[in-house]
Amino acid sequence: MSNQLPSFKYQLEKKAPRTNDGGITRGASVTDFPASVGIAGVSMRLQPGAMRELHWHANAAEWAYVLKGNMRTTVVDPKGNTYVDLFSPGDVWYFPRGYGHVLQCVGDEECHFILIFDNGNFSEDHTFSITDFVSSVPPEIAAQNLGISVSEVASLPQKEVYFAQGKVPSIHSGIGLPVGEVSLTSPHRYPLSAQQPKVVPGGGTQRVVTQAEFPIAKTITGTVFEIEPGGLRELHWHPNADEWQYFIQGKAEMGVFLAERNFVKEEFEAGDVGYVPMGAGHYIKNTGTEKLIVLIGFNSGSYEAIDLSSWISGNPKDLLEGNFGVGDKIFEAFPKTDKFIIR
Ligand code: MN
Ligand code: MN
Repeated sequence: MSNQLPSFKYQLEKKAPRTNDGGITRGASVTDFPASVGIAGVSMRLQPGAMRELHWHANAAEWAYVLKGNMRTTVVDPKGNTYVDLFSPGDVWYFPRGYGHVLQCVGDEECHFILIFDNGNFSEDHTFSITDFVSSVPPEIAAQNLGISVSEVASLPQKEVYFAQGKVPSIHSGIGLPVGEVSLTSPHRYPLSAQQPKVVPGGGTQRVVTQAEFPIAKTITGTVFEIEPGGLRELHWHPNADEWQYFIQGKAEMGVFLAERNFVKEEFEAGDVGYVPMGAGHYIKNTGTEKLIVLIGFNSGSYEAIDLSSWISGNPKDLLEGNFGVGDKIFEAFPKTDKFIIR
């Protein structure tokens, strides 16, 4: 890799976290990770009862995947509908840009989840918290709005709380459905791990959630790949979206082709983030001894990928012979169908 080529790797879980009151967060915006122009991500952990306080994002929608624990969220939409939802590992949430929401860890286990935002410029400067809002306006205005006295307003936090330690609620609190229930409880929840995956025998699996399955998620598609040792998510590209990867388990090599012989290959392990610009050719290979699990977010509501094998198999052999300038014997072994994941 020559010096002028960008890195498509960011060691998110090795970053110094922002920590207080039961919460730990590590974020990767374009400021931290210059290649990631179109998508930002956050790894957040909350102790039972702890919450990321009521807030909204001015410049990004929020898509999340729960890795550990049980999370309660509330969200309000512009029609005044509010939803309270419970999320378990493998569940996804989506909050459109600007919708007010809160995240709280419930039950007795630490929660860990990955947030994906459809804007690399996502930052706290574009995030508006309720305590920041109420303490920034004139106290008389806050008092009139909340129906309390000015001295009661003075007893509220006088700056942004960000993380707050709440009581540990029952995991059923405010929820209509039991834990493990997989039907949609609101437009904002999708149980991705309950989906039947696409399976390549011996190679791996993929689960995908687009706006087709999860209509509110108009700007972000998510997928989870599980790739067997030695398996290759083959050479491909995405016509319609940038790709943001969070490596959950295992070891991988990821290569990005930027045209004109420019190519970047990097090694990834659990906790690392990768990025592929829209249209750039790339692959992911499991280079470890255990199953590779990678969460991927795309900044589009639809999933579009073109695989090398699919492309090649749709062209006549004599044409390929001319293109590569070699005899036709070599093309006998070429893929005749889409391979997707190669053992
Ligand atoms: Mn948020
Ligand atoms: Mn891809």
